[in-house]
Amino acid sequence: MIQKFFKFLLLIAVLHSVVFAIDNGVSVKARKAENSVIVTAVNKNPFDVTVAYRASFINLKANKKLPFLFVLKKHSKKEVLQLKILKNNFQYKAHYDWTIGSKDAKHDNSYIYRLPYKLGTKQMVSQGYNGKFSHYGQSRYAVDFNMKEGTGVYAARGGIVVQTKSDSNRGGASRAYEKDANFITIEHSDKTLATYAHLKKNGVLVKVGEHVKRGQLIGYSGKTGFARGPHLHFIVYKAKDGKGRVSIAVKFRSTNGIVMNPVKGKNYWAVQ
Ligand SMILES: [Zn+2]
Repeated sequence: MIQKFFKFLLLIAVLHSVVFAIDNGVSVKARKAENSVIVTAVNKNPFDVTVAYRASFINLKANKKLPFLFVLKKHSKKEVLQLKILKNNFQYKAHYDWTIGSKDAKHDNSYIYRLPYKLGTKQMVSQGYNGKFSHYGQSRYAVDFNMKEGTGVYAARGGIVVQTKSDSNRGGASRAYEKDANFITIEHSDKTLATYAHLKKNGVLVKVGEHVKRGQLIGYSGKTGFARGPHLHFIVYKAKDGKGRVSIAVKFRSTNGIVMNPVKGKNYWAVQ
């Protein structure tokens, strides 16, 4: 009897170690059912996420190969793994990482974006695709537009606002400021995301959950975060795996026709 009780405690202890605290709205938890351990994932965010999950275990048999990646829709819950208990003294340890967006998003390459500023005005590109200063890796296809602080930022494409930050007034030419950028992230109908970054303090005019139209005024530019000076950093991307994302080269409409590759030092006039 004492033996049995001890075993029971051990199981509880093991299971406790795999119950993760809610990490910014995404949690993946394991619980013991009758003859199995069931892993359930919950996403409380207003955007889809891509989760990478791995585990190590003893005396359990999983119903799928590990590690694995999965997409969890906004505000959703799903069972992602079941492990059959082979012996009562099993052990289970797991780890997960997640990224905003769906890895399964397929960018509509026929879409021509609007330049993200007021119609009939021009801005100069200060860093284009593959820019040496900071547009490489995950940010390869970002574009920086030189913009005086307080310039109106307009949606380059319609969608749903999924994340914003507007409380920062810190910024400078160092990666140390990376987390201080104010920004707006919009989810497009093809599930890709666009982020408009370095906005000025309180320079966000839209709310999470709001539908925005192409060409809608959404905020005001600034120099918060990792920025040498005032500009707008615009990037379209999707999740790659649980830790990273891939940026997407997009086309813009301008008075000179379709811009495939915004060139550093060149001015582009916005048209609808
Ligand atoms: Zn940039």
